[in-house]
Amino acid sequence: MERVIVIGGGGAGTAAATIAKRLKPELRVSVFTEFADIAYSPCGIPFVHGREIPKFDDLFLSTVERYEADGLDMRMETVVTDIDLDRRTITARNQPEGFDQLVVCTGFHWQQPDVPGGNLEGLHYVKDIRKSMEFDAQLDSMKRVVVIGSGPIAVEMAGNLGHRGLHVDLVDEGPWVLHELLDPDVAQPVHESLEQRGVTLHLGTRLEGFEGTDGRIRAVATSGGALECDAAIIGLHKIPNTALAEAAGLKRGTTGALIVDDHMRTSVPGVWAAGDVIEVPHGLTMVPIVGLTGSHAYAQGRVAAVNLTGGELAYDPVWVPWGMVAGDYTIGGFSMGENLAQTLGIPYVVAKGVGVSRARYYPGATKTHVKLLAEPETLRLIGGVIHGGEGVKERADFLGFVAKRGATLHDLAYMENIYSPPIGALFEPIAIAAQNGLAEQRTPRPAVTV
Ligand SMILES: Cc1cc2nc3c(=O)[nH]c(=O)nc-3n(C[C@H](O)[C@H](O)[C@H](O)COP(=O)(O)OP(=O)(O)OC[C@H]3O[C@@H](n4cnc5c(N)ncnc54)[C@H](O)[C@@H]3O)c2cc1C
Repeated sequence: MERVIVIGGGGAGTAAATIAKRLKPELRVSVFTEFADIAYSPCGIPFVHGREIPKFDDLFLSTVERYEADGLDMRMETVVTDIDLDRRTITARNQPEGFDQLVVCTGFHWQQPDVPGGNLEGLHYVKDIRKSMEFDAQLDSMKRVVVIGSGPIAVEMAGNLGHRGLHVDLVDEGPWVLHELLDPDVAQPVHESLEQRGVTLHLGTRLEGFEGTDGRIRAVATSGGALECDAAIIGLHKIPNTALAEAAGLKRGTTGALIVDDHMRTSVPGVWAAGDVIEVPHGLTMVPIVGLTGSHAYAQGRVAAVNLTGGELAYDPVWVPWGMVAGDYTIGGFSMGENLAQTLGIPYVVAKGVGVSRARYYPGATKTHVKLLAEPETLRLIGGVIHGGEGVKERADFLGFVAKRGATLHDLAYMENIYSPPIGALFEPIAIAAQNGLAEQRTPRPAVTV
């Protein structure tokens, strides 16, 4: 019987394994994961800490028994220690096991800060749900936590712990939260919302170390002074977990992540990879990027499954629609905002507009801000930021998709849209932004007098 081994039980690994088995039931599919659980959503963890979701049990979407009943060979709490590509074996618990096809979905690990005190008790990295459940029980007796970093997961943790009533200090070197993602003009409402949730922001502040007593953290040392705390949550960058694949000789790219083609094939025939362990090209620049999301990981696992079972499915370069609630304020976008475009030296024109999420007379209507970036001359869409109230996710998904298909400001300015008082206004905020952008283009810039 042909055997497929999947290393990893996150979004990419579970998609690859379950879809391969469904498409070709005669395969023997084995899943190896270091964790005790499968098919839980790590994405919900910050919201259970914040009591927005009542309990951790709600995050489990299936069980190991269910997967076994579907015919999968589940190897829980089993770390793969070696891949031998010549013999076509992996080793786990000192036992070699042969494969015909291998799917590497080893995901990410958190960047560890290179400062003194990194091994003190009370430093928490959010990933494994069991560790999060233990941490949650400890939070009941804590008063102060420090969050290090201001990426999406760090911001979700900070906002949720503030909501739970803890005093939260957020430390980041950047000038505003989410500065790698967000434009500065959107940072203000995010900052205000986090502060209203009990988060004290220490921006432009460098982490210098962790101080402890009897092996347990007591304070975080920063360039702005020491911050007392009962625990510190580290939410710096996600690093592709490539050690195993690299030792086996699989090729890595410029980002350090594994190289795959659009079918998720690695550099070795019959060996596939998907999820946060790989790099994929950005749709605009075609430059490889990493650190995408669980939804990207799942989609890539599906592509690997289809192709390894004899199908034909390509994974397109990514236009990265993203969205989240930061504090209580909803933000999102796709591809890039102005800050990233400027950092990369990509020329653009801006189209900005503000609309409402429902008919303006309908209770609950919120302002929706849209900023689009377009290529000068062609006015082809290259990025955008959307924020405020309802519909941010749907607009970011839509814009990411139409940008991939080459849409321009002209296409968007006169797009069709739904007007239905409880769910949509007569004037679509995206169309308002595009029309404003076109008007700007038509208005000659005032002559500069010297
Ligand atoms: C707190 C939190 C919030 C998140 N929020 C969102 C969100 O809102 N939206 C979203 O889309 N995504 C979210 N994510 C998902 C995320 O950021 C990742 O993109 C996603 O988890 C990547 O999936 P993956 O399968 O590639 O890797 P991972 O989820 O990292 O899974 C890797 C798997 O590999 C296994 N593994 C690694 N090495 C070995 C080995 N040697 N032997 C055996 N097993 C091994 C691990 O046990 C694990 O099962 C969140 C993640 C976290 C932790």
